[in-house]
Amino acid sequence: MATERTFSILKPDATRRNLTGAINAKIEAAGLRIVAQKRIHMTTQQAETFYGVHRERGFFRDLVTFMTSGPVVVQVLEGENAIAKYREVMGATNPANAAPGTIRKEFAESIEANSAHGSDSAENAAIEIAYFFAGCEIVG
Ligand code: GDP
Repeated sequence: MATERTFSILKPDATRRNLTGAINAKIEAAGLRIVAQKRIHMTTQQAETFYGVHRERGFFRDLVTFMTSGPVVVQVLEGENAIAKYREVMGATNPANAAPGTIRKEFAESIEANSAHGSDSAENAAIEIAYFFAGCEIVG
C-alpha cells in the first residue's frame, strides 16, 4: 500500500454547527494526518469550477448555493490508501445509506448538506489539492 494524499472539505453545514473538531477527530482516529488545513468562504466561481463535473445535473445550482452559504474548511489528508480510506470514513453520499460510525451517518443533514467532501480518485485528488493549496502550505 502506498502513502497517498487526498483533498477534503468540511462543508458549510459542518462549520455552521461547530462540528469541525468532531469530524477532525474521526479523520485522525482513522489514521489520516491533516497535513494542510484552512478555513475559507468559497466564491461562486470557485464552487462552480470545483463541482464543474456536475454542471448538467439538476442539483448543480442548489449545490453551488449551499457550498457558498458559509465558511468551509479545506484540507489535505495523508496516509496509507488515503483516498479510499477517507471515502470509507465519510460514508455514502446520501446519509440514509451511510454505514454506522461514518461522518455522514453521524453528522450529515441531507444528501446535499452531507458535511464532508473527499476526492474520488488519485487524479482528482491532485487536481483538487492544487486548486486550493500551494505546495508550501502542505506540511507532512
Ligand atoms: P460525493 O463524491 O459522495 O460527494 O458525491 P457526488 O460527487 O455524487 O456529489 C457531489 C455532491 O453533490 C454531494 O456530496 C452532495 O453534496 C451533492 N449531491 C449529490 N447528489 C445530490 C442530489 O441528488 N441532490 C442534491 N441536492 N445534492 C446532491
